[in-house]
Amino acid sequence: MRKVRLRKGSLEDTQNPADKNDPYTKRVPVMRSCYSADRTGHVMLQTLFENSLKNQVTFFSEYFATDLIVEDGICKGVVAMDIATSEITVFQAKAVLFATGGYGRVFRITSNAHAGTGDGMALVYRAGLPLEDMEFFQFHPTGLWKLGILVSEAARGEGGILKNKDGERFMERYAPTVKDLAPRDMVSRAIITEIREGRGVKGSDGTDYVYLDLTHLGKEVIDEKLPEITGFARTYLGVEPTTDPIPIQPTAHYAMGGIPTNVNCEVLKNENGEIVKGLYAAGECACVSVHGGNRLGTNSLLDLVVFGRRGGKAIADFLKEAKHHEISESAADRSREIISSIMDNQGTEKISNLRTELQNNMMELCGIFRNEEDLRKMIDILEDLRRRAKNVFLQDKGKVFNTELIGALELHNLLDSAEATVYSAYARLESRGAHTREDFPIRDDSNWMKHTFAYLRENDRPELRYKPVVITNYQPMERKY
Ligand SMILES: Cc1cc2nc3c(=O)[nH]c(=O)nc-3n(C[C@H](O)[C@H](O)[C@H](O)COP(=O)(O)OP(=O)(O)OC[C@H]3O[C@@H](n4cnc5c(N)ncnc54)[C@H](O)[C@@H]3O)c2cc1C
Repeated sequence: MRKVRLRKGSLEDTQNPADKNDPYTKRVPVMRSCYSADRTGHVMLQTLFENSLKNQVTFFSEYFATDLIVEDGICKGVVAMDIATSEITVFQAKAVLFATGGYGRVFRITSNAHAGTGDGMALVYRAGLPLEDMEFFQFHPTGLWKLGILVSEAARGEGGILKNKDGERFMERYAPTVKDLAPRDMVSRAIITEIREGRGVKGSDGTDYVYLDLTHLGKEVIDEKLPEITGFARTYLGVEPTTDPIPIQPTAHYAMGGIPTNVNCEVLKNENGEIVKGLYAAGECACVSVHGGNRLGTNSLLDLVVFGRRGGKAIADFLKEAKHHEISESAADRSREIISSIMDNQGTEKISNLRTELQNNMMELCGIFRNEEDLRKMIDILEDLRRRAKNVFLQDKGKVFNTELIGALELHNLLDSAEATVYSAYARLESRGAHTREDFPIRDDSNWMKHTFAYLRENDRPELRYKPVVITNYQPMERKY
C-alpha cells in the first residue's frame, strides 16, 4: 500500500521518495478534477489555480477520494484511488479540508456537473459523522427542458417572462408583486403547479415544460446581455430565443444541507457543537448554515470565498501545533474491500440502470413537492437500490481510467446522500424554504425551528437528532410577495 505523509515543505511518499530539488514536492497537496459554475466561477478558479502554482501546491489530479480516516474523534487523513491506475493511496495528514461540492446528480434533471455526486458528504456520513439539513435542496426554476442545463436568473432579470401553454404570464397569479422575479423555490413550485394542473406544454418524451420568453427583449439585448443562455438554447434544443420561447423546467441546483461546520469550517461531530480535530469542510459540501433552507442567488460563490478563506486561516493556525497521528495499517481496507467487491462481482445489475432509477424516483418522490406517501415509497426504493447495488457487475475489469468503477463508487455516495435527504424530509412535518410538504403546507416555527442532524446507522436507516436554530438579530417571519 502506498502511503503519503504530508509534512511542511515536503512529501514523504513510500513509492516516490521526495526529490528535494523538485520544485513541486512542497506545501499543501490538493486532489481535484476541473469544474466551475460560470464566468465568475472561471475567474475564481483561475485565480485560485495561479496562486496554488505560485505557492507550489502539489496537485494529485485524477485522484478520487474513497474514504476518510477518523479515529477517536481525530481526522488522520484520507484514502484515495488514482483513477489512472486504480491504485489506492493513504494520505496521512495533520488536517483535511473537504471542498467536494454538492450532490445534484441524485436527481434526474440537474444543473450540476457529473462530479456533483456528494462524495465528501458520503465519506463523512460513512465515517459515522452527521449530515445537516439535507432536506433543503434548491431547484432552480429555469433549466433547459430534458437537460437541466442552467438558464441563469439573468434571463428573468433582463425581463424574461415565464408563460404556460396558453401563453399566460402565470407568475402574476402566484406573486402579483414580483412576478417572474419571485424567489427560486416559489417559481419552481409555480411551474410544477402549472404543469400538474394541465397548463404545461406536452413534451415529445412525455415530460412537460413551460416557456421562458425572451423574444420581446429584441435580438440586440438578447445577444449582448444573454449570449451564454441563448447559445445553450440554440445548441442543445435547436431553439432560436430571439424568435421562439425557450422550453424550460425546474432543475436540481444547490444543496443547502451538507457536512455541518462552525464558522471556522471545523466539522462538527454532533449537534452539541463538538468538533472533529483536523477535519474541515467548505463550499457546497459544507453546511455552516448561512443559506438556511433556501439560498439566495449569487450567495454560493460568496460563501466559497468567505469560508474558503476562514477555513484556510483556521487550518494554518491549527498546523502550528498539530502533529501527525499514526494510522492503522487497515486504514485502506474499507476502500480496498469496496473496490474489489465491485471489480470481482459477478452480479446482474447494471450501475447505470440503478443510477437512473434513483434519479428518476428522487425527482418524482423527493423533488419540489413532497408528501408522506411519496417519501415512504422513496425509502422503500432506496432500500431496494442499496440491496441491488451490492449485485452490480462491471463490463470493464481494467485498472486504467475505469470510469465504470468510478460510477459504481459514486452510486454508493449518491445513495448515502439520497438516504439522508429522504429521511430528513420524511421527518420534517412542515414546509420551509426549499422543503415543501403538500401534507404540511405551512411553516411551523413552534415545532420545527431546528436543524436536522442525520447519522448513518448499522441498518442503513439514519438516526435523526436536532439542534435548535439560534435566533440572533432577525426574528424569523413568513415571506410574503
Ligand atoms: C450551472 C451553475 C451555475 C451557478 N451559478 C452560480 C452563480 O452565479 N452564483 C453563485 O453564487 N453560485 C452559483 N452556482 C452555485 C456554485 O457555483 C456552486 O455551489 C459552487 O461552485 C460549489 O463550489 P465548491 O467548490 O463547493 O464545489 P465544486 O465547484 O462542485 O467543486 C468540487 C470539486 O471536488 C471534486 N471532487 C468531488 N468528489 C471528489 C472525490 N471523491 N475525490 C476527489 N475530488 C472530488 C470535484 O471534481 C470538483 O473539482 C452555480 C452552480 C451551477 C451548477
